[in-house]
Amino acid sequence: MEISFYYTLFAVLAFVLGAVIGSFLNVGIYRLPRDLSITRPRRSFCPSCHAPIPWQQNVPLVSWVWLRGRCAKCGARIAFQYFGVELLTALLFLAVWKFFPWQVAIAYWVFVSILVVATFVDLEHFIIPDQITLGGTVTGIIASFLVPQLMSADTRLASVIRSALAAALGYLILWIVLEGGKIAFGKKRVELDAPTPFAWTRHGDDADFVVGEERSLWSDYFAREKDRLLLHCDEAKIDNRAFGGEALEFHYNRVRIGSEEFMLDTVDQISGVARELEIPREAMGRGDLKFLAAIGAFLGWRGVLFSIFAGSVFGSLIGLATLIIGRRVWSAKLPFGPYLALGALIWMFFGEKFIRWYFQFVSPI
Ligand SMILES: [Zn+2]
Repeated sequence: MEISFYYTLFAVLAFVLGAVIGSFLNVGIYRLPRDLSITRPRRSFCPSCHAPIPWQQNVPLVSWVWLRGRCAKCGARIAFQYFGVELLTALLFLAVWKFFPWQVAIAYWVFVSILVVATFVDLEHFIIPDQITLGGTVTGIIASFLVPQLMSADTRLASVIRSALAAALGYLILWIVLEGGKIAFGKKRVELDAPTPFAWTRHGDDADFVVGEERSLWSDYFAREKDRLLLHCDEAKIDNRAFGGEALEFHYNRVRIGSEEFMLDTVDQISGVARELEIPREAMGRGDLKFLAAIGAFLGWRGVLFSIFAGSVFGSLIGLATLIIGRRVWSAKLPFGPYLALGALIWMFFGEKFIRWYFQFVSPI
């Protein structure tokens, strides 16, 4: 009877701690990508009217429900995401506490916090800040020193080495995938010696982009929402509208010429003669690479391999599903971070079981 009382008490404590941490993670998710300080102002503020939120209106989970998702001062909607992040973190903290011995659980609480922040920042901004990825890698290596069980190691030294190697593996393996992808897609830089004809032709939710002899897929140029491709033209034609010598400024979903803007999903054909082409400086972000390094530092090399495998599978499935139900934003690249995070979570909870099942399957002795 007593055991079940303490069991329940600690379960509740883990959940409440998760909700409180989740509330703090919300601050990080909002402020980190906007380069705002995490500690100043110390008080949370309403994203709409910037009024500081008093502590009694800032109780995790409860306040959002109590105030029906609105700011008490200005009545602006407070996104459901705030509540969702608190609930998700609370549930993850509870699950981690239930699954793992306490030293490992504390390390994994830190780890799931990193996963949650990375996921929600990446979903909104298509970036994962260095504070999370590099900070996460260093934290993972330190955690492996303090808790060698994380790396199934007998000594602290072995644990640190395994953690650091797994981080390096995570970075390298994605680097190879991305660099390999670049070579496969052909060279990105198109240098124009003389005025060169170009054509952009839409095919469903992507387009062919031909400049001179160079043919490529439109979506390969854009990795981030903010990516911009500039095409300086002598003449240009958007569907049946003709324009003079101006620059076409492309984003993944729209094109601007002069003061006019066209959504690309309403345009079938763009053509003309170009003098100069500026492509997005870096077609692929480095955030995913560093994020996988952080995952490696906490989960080891097998966790790296599983996360990238599971992440790719989820990414393809979700991409396919959104395509089928027609909700996919035109040609936007889906961020990869959240899928890596999901793969990492599954590995953390079920990796050992998965390995046992797999080896039974391969060598049924
Ligand atoms: Zn407000």
